[in-house]
Amino acid sequence: MQDATVAARASEATSSTTQQLDVAVVGAGFAGLYLLYRLRKAGFTTLLLEEAGDVGGTWYWNRYPGARCDIQTIDYSYTFDPDLESAWQWSEKYATQPEILRYLGFVADRYELRRDIRFQTKVTAANWDEATERWLLKTDNGAAISCRYYIMATGCLSAPKPPEIDGVKDFKGEVYFTGRWPHEEVKLAGKRVAVIGTGSSGIQSIPLISEQAAQLTVFQRTPNFALPAHNGPPPAERIAMLQGDRAGYREQARWSMAGVPYPQQTAVSWQLSDAERRERFEQAWATGDLVYILTQLWADQGVDVEGNALLAELIREKIHATVKDSDTAAALSPHDHPFGAKRPCLDTNYYATYNRPNVTLVNLRQEPIKQITASGIRTDKRAFDVDVIVFATGFDAMTGAIMAVHPITGRGGKSLSDVWANGPQTYLGLTVAGFPNLFMITGPGSPSVLSNMAVSIEQHDDWVVDRLVAMREAGFTTVEATDTAQAGWTRHMADCATLTLHRLANTWYTGANVPGKAQGVMPYTGGVGPYRSICNEVANGGMLGFRLTGPNVSEQCNDGEVVRLQPDVRLVLGMLTEMNLPPIESLGAQGARDFVNEFNKGRPAGRPVGEVGVGALQGADGPLPYRLYRPATPGPHPIVVYFHGGGWVLGDEQSDDPFCRDMCRRTGMIFVSVGYRHAPEHRFPAAAEDGCAATRWIAEHAADLGGKPGPVMVAGWSAGANIAAVTCQLARDRGGPEISGQLLVCPVTDCTFDRPSYTDNATGYFLTRSLMYWFWDIYCSPADRTDPRASPLRGKLDGLPSALVATCEFDPLRDEGVAYAEALAAAGVPVEQLKARGHFHSSLTMVDVVITGVSARVQMAEALRRFAGLPAEGVRTGRTASPQEINAAAG
Ligand code: FAD
Ligand code: NAP
Repeated sequence: MQDATVAARASEATSSTTQQLDVAVVGAGFAGLYLLYRLRKAGFTTLLLEEAGDVGGTWYWNRYPGARCDIQTIDYSYTFDPDLESAWQWSEKYATQPEILRYLGFVADRYELRRDIRFQTKVTAANWDEATERWLLKTDNGAAISCRYYIMATGCLSAPKPPEIDGVKDFKGEVYFTGRWPHEEVKLAGKRVAVIGTGSSGIQSIPLISEQAAQLTVFQRTPNFALPAHNGPPPAERIAMLQGDRAGYREQARWSMAGVPYPQQTAVSWQLSDAERRERFEQAWATGDLVYILTQLWADQGVDVEGNALLAELIREKIHATVKDSDTAAALSPHDHPFGAKRPCLDTNYYATYNRPNVTLVNLRQEPIKQITASGIRTDKRAFDVDVIVFATGFDAMTGAIMAVHPITGRGGKSLSDVWANGPQTYLGLTVAGFPNLFMITGPGSPSVLSNMAVSIEQHDDWVVDRLVAMREAGFTTVEATDTAQAGWTRHMADCATLTLHRLANTWYTGANVPGKAQGVMPYTGGVGPYRSICNEVANGGMLGFRLTGPNVSEQCNDGEVVRLQPDVRLVLGMLTEMNLPPIESLGAQGARDFVNEFNKGRPAGRPVGEVGVGALQGADGPLPYRLYRPATPGPHPIVVYFHGGGWVLGDEQSDDPFCRDMCRRTGMIFVSVGYRHAPEHRFPAAAEDGCAATRWIAEHAADLGGKPGPVMVAGWSAGANIAAVTCQLARDRGGPEISGQLLVCPVTDCTFDRPSYTDNATGYFLTRSLMYWFWDIYCSPADRTDPRASPLRGKLDGLPSALVATCEFDPLRDEGVAYAEALAAAGVPVEQLKARGHFHSSLTMVDVVITGVSARVQMAEALRRFAGLPAEGVRTGRTASPQEINAAAG
């Protein structure tokens, strides 16, 4: 029946006339099938072109033994039609390739999709005709196509990678590629089989091949992390959750980070004991679920090198416990990449397979393959005679299938391969500037392969079709991303890539698996839910970043960048908005203090330092509490006197605890956080005078505190940075103490509100203009505000210690911080400016929440070490470790 359908379509299309369409879709996998369903329903004339002989995409081509999904099948399904969901029952937790292929065939039948699919037809070139504003597609079978919109649903993992090994053609035996496995049965019984490659495809197929083959030799270049799938029937509790509230379950998946409805994990590794971490790990190991182990153990495992290493080590233990031969176990244990930075695999008996007498592992790191010969594979140490070679060597991922259509020429005849010569650039992963009316589904820049693809695909398809419908209603016939929007998306992608550890591994995510391919993290690492909200923002913002034209309507272009905030700042601000908090200034001083204390309870605990001590020091008018953070390294250490933020009204010596811990760890210095007096009980100049007195007392008691005698440094955030700046001026004028450097983070430096940042960032970024009014009113009478002890920008600035002034783009205080840095420089003070792009007032002190603030804190720590006369290289960078550092650490 299917073959008959294929034949009928092929002959019908063999026409010399060009076929005219509204939309041409390429690819009959998950993405193309749903697109066809939606486009047809929306009334567009649509044809789907597919190289294969039937529907299925990935599941049509990858028929190798053991091929299954690695996202639980109840999640890896279409969700657009509840009736479809009840009409199909999955038999297993992770369905096999034949079952998934049957499912896609069932979908094609149910919605009668095959009648608009031309199979066995490869699209070979695509050209935008500027005169007609249509795409012209060439194919290798049947009529050429002229279409208004060209949608490439060509798949991220659909272009198998060539073997890149000399001599493949000389081999006299059988050769198979996992990504192009034959339809007829491959008989391996009694044969000597080689498998090259130990990614997901190799790891799934090796156990089954070993059961058939007389001898199996596995050629491994890089070991991968693999977890037991514990396959079986779909887990009862997940089924119950789904059936209990199907719509809610699906909606949660759509807004989750990975497209599977798991909650956000908040516990961090250093809050858990070894025993607690092990217990969580064992539970995850028993669960057999990639997304679970990637997201549910501890919150820092995917974003922090140290948190990740704890998990990687536990997995390596499991490998050693399973594989009997210790050399083989060592060779199978990955050390060159963080867990999850490369796609981990789900396996069934993978590691145990190496205990079989007929299985040998060849470690290509020790003996690289030299060539393939007529009789087998030769490494630089030995020759292996085999009857069959299976290439499980992966794909030219994300861009391979797109670039295989060559050329794709857009406006002005520009070729996509030239435009992407240095790496793919897109807007939203869906469109490319200069290529009107071209859409890519799960293209580079989409969350695609870092998510449950079924969820991402439905979102992309819906978004594209909804836009086409809206354009039609408004009379527009072309849509094209602007250069500004695309550049903004590229920058946002890069910002997201700094959040996770994916950039620290050589993988197909980064293009590193294909020789000569431009490298960079290609999928969107910011998460499925955030991506969805960004796409919605674009649509709701009048197609932000797109130019729309039509024959009878005026051009529309709402140009701009959709995300200018750092990705984690965007999430934090979004959460704060959702909490619908009352303005802090409406709570009164005590109410505001209670609120801030309560709020701080919900933040991640600071990281361990050598010791945290408390004590009292002498302030300007009596004792003040302090909190001392001592590094774990042997002392004496240089001392930094720290002043917390809070508008001279809120906070205390504990309120910036995570920041003090983080800076203590990074700098290797003692941080003494001072509990200076607050307004309204103690108005100006109490806080300023306490700052100076406390610094003097600490300098005088440096040795008692375990610090290095001699100059101290001062640091502060917000109003605390104001106190630090004032302290430097007072210490200079009052004959000490000696201060060797000042770190001013988002400082208050002046009492006027007329700089642009007070207007640009007046609301919406937590610290508001009206809250700053309130702080000033409580702290200082209008007459006193121009006093340099309140507005240090108005003081004398020469002769002050070296400074680092950090400012954040979306902070009302940004411009007065910049003004202070410029004024210091003009006065001859050595000053370094740190302008944190995309950050808000609290970004740099929200340790382990705003992770993109790490590089700023590293820079601040380097500055403090310079102020103390220490080499900047001693700074602990933590999660910003480079791949080289990881490799070195791994030995
Ligand atoms: P595909 O399914 O790749 O379909 C693209 C189609 O386009 C192909 O049929 C191809 O022949 C056709 N095509 C390409 N170029 C042309 C052209 N020029 N002309 C004509 N036709 C063309 N993802 C998950 O989320 N969970 C999983 O468990 C999972 N398991 C996977 C297992 C394997 C073995 C592989 C390789 C991938 C897996 N993936 C998984 C990713 C998988 O690719 C997606 O989940 C999904 O199937 C992709 O659907 P798609 O329609 O976007 O692309
Ligand atoms: P892959 O992860 O890229 O693995 C390819 C393997 O081949 C790697 O071990 C690679 O080594 C090795 N290799 C490549 N070229 C080689 C060469 N010239 N010489 C020696 N070794 C070579 O590809 P894949 O296994 O096909 O998986 C790709 C992706 O598809 C997966 O990550 C996953 O997303 C998806 N997939 C999912 C499943 C599933 O379980 N549902 C199954 C299969 C695939 P290096 O690492 O050193 O490059």
